[in-house]
Amino acid sequence: MADGSGPYDIVVLGGGSGGYACALRAAELGKTVALIEKDKIGGTCLHRGCIPTKALLHSAEVADETRESATYGVRARFEGIDVPAVHAFKDKIVTRAWKGVQGLLKSKNVTIIEGEGRLVSNGVAVGDTVYEGRNIVLATGSAPKSLPGLEIDGERIITSEHALKLDRVPASVVVLGGGVIGVEFASVWRSFGAEVTIVEGLPHLLPLEEESSSKLLERAFRRRGIKQELGVFFEGVKITDNGVVVTLANGKTLDAELLLVAVGRGAVSTGMGLEEAGVAIERGTVTVNEFCQTSVPGVYAVGDLIPTLQLAHAGFAEGILVAEHIAGLNPVPIDYDGVPRITYSDPEVASVGITAVQAKERGHEIVEFTYDLAGNPKSQILQTQGAVKIITAKDGPVLGVHMVGRRIGELVTEGQLIYNWEALPAEVAQLIHAHPTQSEAIGEAMLAMAGKPLHVHN
Ligand SMILES: Cc1cc2nc3c(=O)[nH]c(=O)nc-3n(C[C@H](O)[C@H](O)[C@H](O)COP(=O)(O)OP(=O)(O)OC[C@H]3O[C@@H](n4cnc5c(N)ncnc54)[C@H](O)[C@@H]3O)c2cc1C
Repeated sequence: MADGSGPYDIVVLGGGSGGYACALRAAELGKTVALIEKDKIGGTCLHRGCIPTKALLHSAEVADETRESATYGVRARFEGIDVPAVHAFKDKIVTRAWKGVQGLLKSKNVTIIEGEGRLVSNGVAVGDTVYEGRNIVLATGSAPKSLPGLEIDGERIITSEHALKLDRVPASVVVLGGGVIGVEFASVWRSFGAEVTIVEGLPHLLPLEEESSSKLLERAFRRRGIKQELGVFFEGVKITDNGVVVTLANGKTLDAELLLVAVGRGAVSTGMGLEEAGVAIERGTVTVNEFCQTSVPGVYAVGDLIPTLQLAHAGFAEGILVAEHIAGLNPVPIDYDGVPRITYSDPEVASVGITAVQAKERGHEIVEFTYDLAGNPKSQILQTQGAVKIITAKDGPVLGVHMVGRRIGELVTEGQLIYNWEALPAEVAQLIHAHPTQSEAIGEAMLAMAGKPLHVHN
């Protein structure tokens, strides 16, 4: 190992959420680890995803609160968005976290190798050097997708990566795709003052969420002046002198300064030796079992590269699972239904567990209860509308928690404990929720489902 080429217990290819979490946990367990990254440790989440978007969303929240300050009896005037300062705020947070994660890896003696890796029979090659590994973990993540014939020029037709670096607030934007990324950017840009239209081919925004949550979000967005073309497909786009003209399948055209393409992300699985090594790939993603083992013995895959939830915390959990599996700790496979999901728009949409449709598909007889945030004083103080919906099996545990409201995402931690512990409403109803908090909405829903409603108007 004098030249640093191994053999290592584990060679991780890709230093994003999944890869670096695996490296950290494996090093904690006494394994020798090499982590190969061609760009920046921290990957999409830290540099082009979770963290920068949430920083923008916070700036957006401050803009809205400033505009609405008179509601709270505070004299302030919204003068506009200082785009370079917004970027400086965001970049400072990213840089700090980037230094932090690099420091963590170094402190645990993970060997970081800079360069583009390629899977070979006994390890990962970077240029002419092969880093040998007894186990390999593939964690190369994902990249923005487009539609056939829809060319991203980075100027008028952009992805989230360009959007995060935009040097101005656009006057108007068409957002193609009403999933998490599209909804979050629509929310930011509207708060910054842009005219925004979201185009979504399916009937609702956030199509994977409980339908009632999507409807509440759509209503809130309409009130915010975010236009929506739902259940209609994109047909084409023309670049003009001033921007773009987007044509929809129903014949409608939309003029805007920019088109953001947010139609999903595809796994980065080609051009790095996976097929040649015999790693099974299906529709672009690497096939794995419940321990993230690929079809090739000793080769694992985690994060956005595999067909599980494209979420940083799912990647963290998979990375940890793999490290523990390699170390022989016999870890418990991940219950993906129990992974919390949050869309950090205004209002936020958060959920854990399954939807009513999924519950019925799985043969459950269900009971549903919705607690309107109109009855929750803290939500009124925050001037938000929304709801907490609980789905349980009839006479059984909670199967799903679905919430909409400003700042409601933080409540998903309680929802996750309730779901993952398979709690009954009557058990949660025993627990006293602090007053006044938004968490009382969960408490109230559970009290009602346990047959002893408190602040519920019928
Ligand atoms: C705009 C946006 C917002 C998001 N917001 C959230 C959020 O709020 N919460 C959340 O949970 N998730 C969010 N996500 C999703 C989250 O970023 C991803 O799920 C997560 O980053 C996946 O981690 P990963 O390790 O699989 O891949 P990545 O983070 O993509 O990391 C893969 C790494 O591998 C490197 N790599 C690839 N190929 C090679 C190679 N051949 N050699 C060497 N290195 C290579 C890449 O450079 C990259 O650094 C967001 C994503 C986007 C795009």
